[in-house]
Amino acid sequence: MRKPCVGEIQSYIDPEDDAIVWRCPVCGDNGAISGWEGSFWDLSTIVTRH
Ligand SMILES: [Zn+2]
Repeated sequence: MRKPCVGEIQSYIDPEDDAIVWRCPVCGDNGAISGWEGSFWDLSTIVTRH
């Protein structure tokens, strides 16, 4: 089990494919979310997972 990370997520929207790209500077986790338009999306969901 990984410890919950309290790192502050850095995110931006990739202009090439409109995906949200996020990265945690503390643990190095990162990812991208596409197809987020029109649906509720909360960074806090990622914060609790990475
Ligand atoms: Zn982290």
